[in-house]
Amino acid sequence: MNVKAIMREFGIRPSKRLGQHFLIDESPLYSMLEAAELKEDDGVLEIGPGLGVLTLKLASRAGKVVAVEKDPALLPALEKLAARHKNICLINEDVLKLNLEQIAKEYFDGKFKVVANLPYYITSPIIMKIVENRHFIEMAVIMVQKEVAERLSASPGTRDFGILSVAVQLYAEVDLVCRVSKSAFLPPPKVESAVVRLKLRENPAVDVEDEKVFFRVVEAAFGERRKTVKNSLASRLSLPSDGIREALKKAGIDENRRAETLRIEEFAALSREIAKML
Ligand code: SAM
Repeated sequence: MNVKAIMREFGIRPSKRLGQHFLIDESPLYSMLEAAELKEDDGVLEIGPGLGVLTLKLASRAGKVVAVEKDPALLPALEKLAARHKNICLINEDVLKLNLEQIAKEYFDGKFKVVANLPYYITSPIIMKIVENRHFIEMAVIMVQKEVAERLSASPGTRDFGILSVAVQLYAEVDLVCRVSKSAFLPPPKVESAVVRLKLRENPAVDVEDEKVFFRVVEAAFGERRKTVKNSLASRLSLPSDGIREALKKAGIDENRRAETLRIEEFAALSREIAKML
């Protein structure tokens, strides 16, 4: 598919505001298809099909592709594609406004996969939406900014391990699929990119008694990165240092450690102890 020729045919000028960077190098597409382990009866939701480069490849391997595009200016090009491929359904909508449970019922026979080259200005809300809808989504293979990919797949003890890593890894197994250079897109974005795969879990990776308290503790712990967990929690949760020290001890965590060194199980154990103090 020739991206430049389609842009010329339909008079399309990429919108910066909508994060439009179209893939012109096909090799990342094949890595994404491979990572998505597509079968012919799979249902796929594509977010932001753009000119349909990925859509076309998905349609040749999956049973059905539902492509949600916000920009009406891209619809004529996409409609031409959908007319030739009966398993492509187009929805002209903002993905953040979509009810994914309804999409699962209306378009797919059960769970579906998400495969997408995301609009980067809304990466985090889309990822959180995917995680929140994990009961309908089997996996997500998504192109994101390289830094986000590194944070999503980071291990404890590394600089990139933070709130996003904990929030996503609690509900998904994360793999970094490949790195993608700026020159793979037209126009090239300002940042490097990478593809990650999230295999959504039915049950969280560790037993979290109270999710609200768990995330309060995680946010507070990472709130002041240069401080120890003890000091960060004491100032962010307005709790006495002695109590925090006791909670850390009961959870088996050295009080001098910093948040980025704690494993998710340790955050869970700590939040169980902190819950007793709130
Ligand atoms: N999939 C195409 C490709 O790989 O060449 C285009 C990817 S481009 C990075 C992101 C796409 O998301 C654009 O087509 C853009 O119009 C679309 N988009 C932006 N905001 C959106 C939203 N809120 N809901 C759905 N699509 C959106």
